[in-house]
Amino acid sequence: MEYKKLAELYEKLGATTKRLEKIDILAKFLKNLEEKDKEVLYLLLGDIYPEYDERKIGISSQLAIKAISKATGIKTEDVVKEWKTIGDLGKVVKKLVSQKKQSTLQAKKLTTEKVLENLRKLPELEGKGTVERKISLITELLTSASPVESLYLIRTLLRDLRIGIKSSTVRDALVKAFFPLDKESQKEAAEKIQNAYDISQDLSKIYELAKKGEKVSSIKLEAGKPIKVMLAQKAKSIKEAFEKVGKPCAIEYKYDGFRMVINKKDNKITLYTRRLENVTKQFPDIVNVVKSNVKGESFIIDSEIIGFNEKTKEYVPFQEISQRIKRKYNIDKMIKELPVEIKAFDLIFYNRKNLIKEPFEKRTKLLRKIIKSLKFKISVADQKITDSEEEAKEFYKKAIKDNQEGLIFKNLKAPYKPGSRVGYMIKLKEELKDFDLVIIGAEYGTGKRAGWLSSFILACLDKKIDKFKTIGKMGTGIKEKISTNIGGTSFKELTKILKPLIIKTKGREVEIKPKIVVSVTFQEIQKSPKYTSGFALRFPRLTALRPDKSPSDVTTLDEIKKEYEAQRKK
Ligand code: ATP
Repeated sequence: MEYKKLAELYEKLGATTKRLEKIDILAKFLKNLEEKDKEVLYLLLGDIYPEYDERKIGISSQLAIKAISKATGIKTEDVVKEWKTIGDLGKVVKKLVSQKKQSTLQAKKLTTEKVLENLRKLPELEGKGTVERKISLITELLTSASPVESLYLIRTLLRDLRIGIKSSTVRDALVKAFFPLDKESQKEAAEKIQNAYDISQDLSKIYELAKKGEKVSSIKLEAGKPIKVMLAQKAKSIKEAFEKVGKPCAIEYKYDGFRMVINKKDNKITLYTRRLENVTKQFPDIVNVVKSNVKGESFIIDSEIIGFNEKTKEYVPFQEISQRIKRKYNIDKMIKELPVEIKAFDLIFYNRKNLIKEPFEKRTKLLRKIIKSLKFKISVADQKITDSEEEAKEFYKKAIKDNQEGLIFKNLKAPYKPGSRVGYMIKLKEELKDFDLVIIGAEYGTGKRAGWLSSFILACLDKKIDKFKTIGKMGTGIKEKISTNIGGTSFKELTKILKPLIIKTKGREVEIKPKIVVSVTFQEIQKSPKYTSGFALRFPRLTALRPDKSPSDVTTLDEIKKEYEAQRKK
């Protein structure tokens, strides 16, 4: 198919903010799409393979700039200059390509096949000369692209299409295109497609079946493939948690580790993270434990992996074992130094049977039957079934004493909903601490945050030498936090306050005079060589601007050290 057609579709979709209009536009497109072009559905969602596939494009803005420069013959500095004023590299390339295209005519017509072919080579490249090869693959596409096509090529490369399309929009468009029945049957069709998507995460495959007039329910859940996990909603109190899941419910320890989905099929164990990454190689210890302690010819188990100290046998915070997820060498040494234990908490598939629709009480019962507990190796999550707030309170205290994060409340009758945060699981954690910190640097944002400072370097005070020391970078969650806590202030506002305080600019980064104090919550303090304080905050979030505080009032390095020690002891 001509890439031009797809670019036109992106334009139409981006031009409206109305979901129903988007669905209409997409439905028409999908109806006319030929079966041979089914992979266009990946591009439509800004991807090159189904969502679960690990091969993602992953191109940095810097590399994209180099490719734009090569394709247009414009110096990288000049591309960066444009980027700074326009903010969106897609728009930059569109402008530059259209300037260039006035003199040269488009040589070749770009097809979606060619785009996919080149983009799919990107994640495969390794070793010497990778950067050059990537640049030339992108340049090849850009030189045959029209201005609009180049815009979407660059946005696809940066994985930020900005046309407001989610998998659920495509799902509803598929319903509209292929099941044009009455409302009730449409609802049923949407549910069927959603179910098929939840277990396959492959809209192209669903489109293919629908187009052929075959049943989408013929897609079956299989072990061995990554699946999106069910997510938890939050509660602020035990009372609220009970209200959300209903009484009685199951309450379990909220373990402080990382999520892992354990699969068995044809005698082979495969392990996936919640981001669908295959981590089997990193955890041969888990593979062995599962092989000898879990019954069944095939299964999918949802679990949390936690670390413990080999000597003291105490459970340790997540950050201490987090490096095991990425480490691909010296695994044996890692296993000894950072041993882990499996805490299984759900069973999604067992002996070729899909259990997604079964109630949690049944799944958890079966899970307990198939796992042989082995201390510090594998067990099922500690659980109580109760309707008593008193009992929940005691259990919560016990969880915290055991170095875990809190509790998870679970609806006993609920199905497993892959990839959704539907409120069948409610998390209750300890209140977060606040630090007051001063902003001493920032970075201009991209995309929706273009033109605004959107990421902020935070610092504490080293009282001994009267110097500010960095302790982290705060970016996510800011927008909502600012608007709820300081009455509608936004990135824009924060930029306005900070801009006059800029001392130095280097690319997108700026140094800022230490004047503005902010209150910041975080999940944990970690040791980190990255920042001059020697510490980093995990998940820092802005809760308020503190115009009432001066930079000399911010949290001191000594206080942070104390807090870090307290956290370790706990
Ligand atoms: P999100 O809410 O997006 O998952 P998050 O990663 O910060 O954010 P948490 O606040 O840690 O998530 O809460 C949910 C996570 O708790 C689950 O994803 C899972 O990894 C973990 N968890 C620990 N113990 C359990 C348990 N018994 N049942 C379910 N999840 C558990």
